[in-house]
Amino acid sequence: MNNILDKSLSELQADFASRSWPAFRAKQIFTWLHKKVTFDFAQMTDLPKELRDELPKHYKLYAPTVTKVLRSRDGTKKFLFTLNDGKRVEAVLLKDNTNRKTVCLSTQAGCKLKCAFCATGGAGFQRDLTPAEIISQVYRIAEGGPDISNIVYMGMGEPFLNYDNVLKSLRLLTAKEGGNFGQRKITISTCGIPDGIMMFADEELQVRLAISLNAATDAVRSRLMPINRIYPLAALREALLYYLQKTGRRVTLEYVMLDGVNDRQPDLKELRKFCEGLDVHVNLIPFNPFGKHFRPSKLQAIHHFLNGLAAAKINAVMRQSKGQDIMAACGQLAGKPL
Ligand code: SF4
Repeated sequence: MNNILDKSLSELQADFASRSWPAFRAKQIFTWLHKKVTFDFAQMTDLPKELRDELPKHYKLYAPTVTKVLRSRDGTKKFLFTLNDGKRVEAVLLKDNTNRKTVCLSTQAGCKLKCAFCATGGAGFQRDLTPAEIISQVYRIAEGGPDISNIVYMGMGEPFLNYDNVLKSLRLLTAKEGGNFGQRKITISTCGIPDGIMMFADEELQVRLAISLNAATDAVRSRLMPINRIYPLAALREALLYYLQKTGRRVTLEYVMLDGVNDRQPDLKELRKFCEGLDVHVNLIPFNPFGKHFRPSKLQAIHHFLNGLAAAKINAVMRQSKGQDIMAACGQLAGKPL
């Protein structure tokens, strides 16, 4: 039986038509699910009782639940979700200085890509998340009260390796009759899957794109991100150019700063070269330590990068790390019991 929470409004309407149920009932149910965030047919009080009784015979209604919450000293919260097959994923709620609240969500349980600086990669891959499992992370966190202003697809998993479900989740979150979340308030972050970037450019969405770059030479990037051996920087840059030309939207390049690995003068020179002619914005991210392989760059090295990029007229900022004390910061999600 299909999960009704995975269905778009048009799919639901087609289902209803095939059962000779009125199309407007499909819209009512979609609104209950995605706007009122009600996951119990019995509570959908403006539906006739016969329909409420009939729905569970045709659809499952399943949204993962939060099984644990950790609170950081800086106000960040990490949520552990347990899926119906027992797999675990994590999402994070971050608050900035202006009280803007951002949900960082996961798209896969684990990840295949094994980036060396990321705890998720080290934990292995389990499975893709369904659209319902992706959007429920936002719905469940919002249920607790916060008014979510931004959503970033930067948690566990590579979004473009779960392309169809991620796309569907975006359409559900932004549907006018549902969550009606602003597309420009959503960012998808990829490790650089060229096909995914080009397909995404063709979707004609207003959703923002970020690329986890982390090095601008193939030697260093392949060491940090094994995916670079399959899709080297030249292929990534070509896809990025296609995206920029097609959408006209600036792309964010994420660069995790690792002491002595990608923060030296030649690394800066290569990064400047990579950015030349591209409408990009660089986020320098101080490494959030876990394991023994890397150390965070010294503040001086980060400032040297910031100045070097500014001198080349490349927009760059240092991103503040949040939630380190609860292992909720960038690259620290592992989906382990909290
Ligand atoms: S950084 Fe992203 S793509 Fe790389 S291992 Fe971690 S979750 Fe996977």
